Amino acid sequence: THDFDRLEIGYDIPARPGMAEAEIQTPCLILDLDALEANIRKMGEVSRSYGLRHRAHGKMHKSVDVLRLQQELGGAIGVCCQKVSEAEVFARAGIADILVSNEIRDRAKIDRLARLPLYGGRISVCIDDAENVPDLSEAAVRHGTELHCLVEIACGARRCGVETPEAARAIAEAVGAAPGLHFAGVQAYQGPAQHLETFEMRRVALAPAFDQLRATLDLLAQAGLAAGIVTGGGTGSYVLEAESGLYTELQCGSYAFMDADYGRIRDRDGQRLDEGMWRNALFVLTSVMSHATPDRAICDAGLKSLSMESGLPRLHGRDDATYLGASDEHGTIEDPHGRLGINERLRLVPGHCDPTCNLHDWYVAVRNGQVETLWPVSARGKSY
Ligand code: PLP
Ligand code: MN
Repeated sequence: THDFDRLEIGYDIPARPGMAEAEIQTPCLILDLDALEANIRKMGEVSRSYGLRHRAHGKMHKSVDVLRLQQELGGAIGVCCQKVSEAEVFARAGIADILVSNEIRDRAKIDRLARLPLYGGRISVCIDDAENVPDLSEAAVRHGTELHCLVEIACGARRCGVETPEAARAIAEAVGAAPGLHFAGVQAYQGPAQHLETFEMRRVALAPAFDQLRATLDLLAQAGLAAGIVTGGGTGSYVLEAESGLYTELQCGSYAFMDADYGRIRDRDGQRLDEGMWRNALFVLTSVMSHATPDRAICDAGLKSLSMESGLPRLHGRDDATYLGASDEHGTIEDPHGRLGINERLRLVPGHCDPTCNLHDWYVAVRNGQVETLWPVSARGKSY
């Protein structure tokens, strides 16, 4: 917890609890707490309804505080992250079940990873190559710890992961025989399917991945290597993973904040994801700093405040103006009716939540137009 009274607005923090939203220094991240809490509760209900656990993906928010809310309100069993440095943040904060949903090959990183169980929690990691086994094993033995290993299956994603059930079995056997390592199960996450526009497109894209997963789980079972954990799924696809009957836990992350790229895809009923199921909880608050021409307003949030590789931000709650483009510190807004005033605050829904959060130091959590609290982006910049 922070002593906000001792922190200086501007130099230290963009706002103080109790302030009005209109007083927040911009540009900065704001979280609509009502929307965030509703999303988190809903994901808890959804995963429970399928009999699945939810392991929230912490790479999205990089925040210990948001993760704790996901545990308290949504029953999340723990966290996934992609980087050892993120895992270090969550482990130091006392999070008891951490999965690095990624391969770790560098010796120094493996050493850091193998130290993390000393904080008291369970640490798991993905593996897609038997040659990784001795390195992980030696590091765990050196620190007197245990690393839980999940064999990662490629799922047609053309990223990390084994391509065949036989390769998965060989790695699982090697893990099982290695001191300091425990074969915990399988990760099967398919990234490219997440943002396909329709539910049917996502279903078709994931069918071969589930076939590969099923064949792998069968072969592992025949070899006496039961996969206790089968983990995967994201905000675009989790219904399909859940209905496949193959998984034990979901890894959804973006559902909690939402973004413009996820907002425009459709659920099974053809409804936009940000209209039925999930609410936009994350915004970049920006201020109008110029009305250079009658139909063009300039705001203070550009490329250094918003990640745009998945599309431009959307103005929240108004369709009479459009964010058209950005340079480093400026955003150009088409304002055909000249309605935007100087210093007017606007809520922007970022194109892509994860890399946008990583651009900021603080979340300003608001409710009913007032700042309730601030949370640091605890693992901001921690990509090493
Ligand atoms: N699991 C893994 C391995 C991922 O890489 C990601 C995101 O890229 C997720 C889960 C979470 O997906 P989302 O934020 O789309 O819910
Ligand atoms: Mn993402």
